[in-house]
Amino acid sequence: MTATASRVLVLNSGSSSVKYQLLDMHNTESKSGSAAGRLAVGLVERIGEETSRLAHTPLGTGGAKRETEGPIADHTAALKAVAAELAADGLGLDSPELAAIGHRVVHGGLKFSAPTVIDDEVLAEIERLVPVAPLHNPANITGIRTARALRPDLPQVAVFDTAFHTTMPEYAARYAIDVETADAHRIRRYGFHGTSHAYVSRKTAELLGKAPEDVNVIVLHLGNGASASAVAGGRCVDTSMGLTPLEGLVMGTRSGDIDPAVTFHLKRVAGMDEDEVDVLLNKKSGLIGLCGDNDMREIGRRIDEGDAQAKLAFDIYIHRLKKYIGAYSAVLGRVDAVAFTAGVGENAAPVRAAAIAGLEEMGMAVDASLNAVRGDEPRLISPEYARVAVAVVPTDEELEIAQQTYALVSA
Ligand code: ADP
Repeated sequence: MTATASRVLVLNSGSSSVKYQLLDMHNTESKSGSAAGRLAVGLVERIGEETSRLAHTPLGTGGAKRETEGPIADHTAALKAVAAELAADGLGLDSPELAAIGHRVVHGGLKFSAPTVIDDEVLAEIERLVPVAPLHNPANITGIRTARALRPDLPQVAVFDTAFHTTMPEYAARYAIDVETADAHRIRRYGFHGTSHAYVSRKTAELLGKAPEDVNVIVLHLGNGASASAVAGGRCVDTSMGLTPLEGLVMGTRSGDIDPAVTFHLKRVAGMDEDEVDVLLNKKSGLIGLCGDNDMREIGRRIDEGDAQAKLAFDIYIHRLKKYIGAYSAVLGRVDAVAFTAGVGENAAPVRAAAIAGLEEMGMAVDASLNAVRGDEPRLISPEYARVAVAVVPTDEELEIAQQTYALVSA
């Protein structure tokens, strides 16, 4: 990397999509606002179909969003199309300004507890983790291979969703099942959304004017996927997702916690096979299974119209959330802050109000007028008298990946 190179391209490769952002790391800290340092953002979707779509916004030049539709055969073609869009803005992948590419990798197992420069051995290890992350790691690997082929000389860094959770004590990470079976098949609780939990817990400490080491935070990452974590002094001590992202909170389409015997029952009594049960619990459960909608905005509208099914789905969602707030309060002993983040956490004031309602004895309360304020900045929504700060802290996984990547390659 040259001394002046200060740009990082962040790639989040899914099975049929690639999300990307190009950031200038010299500018991300110096300005406030979520657009700070962002030169370009974009998304390629429906890769492999006739109707692929690329949406690219050159934020750095203030240019308008450009959208192109037409078949993009595979990830190589997708990344080439992204590179062409960036080059059109003078931000090509061949620029000496580009310091590194940071890849979001979902599963890092036990081996990767920190961002890691990718070489052949690291890539092989990410491949060895495919059996525990069959839906996610293969797409991440394709993205890495494609980017390495385009710029073999450039440092490429893997930032793992699981890394922040590797500090969980063994008693929180292990399931209470036969140890030999668990170890033979690497069955344990890994947790996900770690990049978000790390970023949000640190930002929450900042909001309180304290060092992360001095603060205990419960982070509630409520997007379409949702997870909670207990962060003690900057280190994760428990999180709600497990071997896979299915465990824990009620999500948009996932059941979250469930008696595992339900799965045997579905096989024995309903005649479903593993794949059908998998689809049922991951894609047809949670909010969508309960009421037919997984968007909290639509559920809110239906509740306002007196829809009892939508209200029950909301109540089940909130009940689970409350259970985790209670459990993690006990795990942490002392809670300084509860932080809401991601699509639902950042936008759905009724969810925040309902999740904290009735927890005054635990020192938690929400001020209705503060809760109604919308914005992109971290903010407190608890009244001054409350012992525990309740906060809305917008997450920024791309910035966190870029910062971790840049810190590693410029060290
Ligand atoms: P993911 O990254 O897991 O796909 P996001 O963090 O983008 O999810 O969250 C998406 C969810 O956020 C949507 O499904 C919707 O339920 C919720 N959401 C987004 N905007 C709002 C809003 N204004 N009010 C309520 N819920 C919202």
